[in-house]
Amino acid sequence: MESKLNVKILRNAQVPLYHFTDYFKGFEKVDAIRRLFGEKTERVLEDLRIEFSGRRGYMGVSNVDGHLNVSAEYLNKGDILDIYLDIIHELTHVRQFMEGAELFDNRYNYVSRPTEIEAFRNAVEEARRLGLSNSRICEYLKTEWMTDEDFLFLAKTLNVKCESVPG
Ligand SMILES: [Zn+2]
Repeated sequence: MESKLNVKILRNAQVPLYHFTDYFKGFEKVDAIRRLFGEKTERVLEDLRIEFSGRRGYMGVSNVDGHLNVSAEYLNKGDILDIYLDIIHELTHVRQFMEGAELFDNRYNYVSRPTEIEAFRNAVEEARRLGLSNSRICEYLKTEWMTDEDFLFLAKTLNVKCESVPG
């Protein structure tokens, strides 16, 4: 069948990866990050790579090799506090990945998956340390693809009082 195709396709596409520390500076000094990696913090951050995506979205960690996926648009235009808290969240997943955890365990719904709860907990703890109000934290936790029910469940799990569903 393939021999009938009168075209040539170069199948050697590469996905460039970038150094985390070229884009995110000073995170090795953040206590919330040091709590994750201890004395290995500098090494882990220096070894961490980022793949930028041209698609809309936020961030995520690859469950194949533990690199960070970041939406270029989100990094360039998103709210800086949201991005900062997302880094705390995602670096929690990086540590979980290093420990061999299954990041996308489909036995659980997103908001009740233990790896997500731990990541959200770390982000919320950091948000509180920064003095963010409950309503700002609620706003941070709500994403457009999360149902209202899931959002309220997550907020309750994290002990964040969200009276109504933002936005
Ligand atoms: Zn997560």
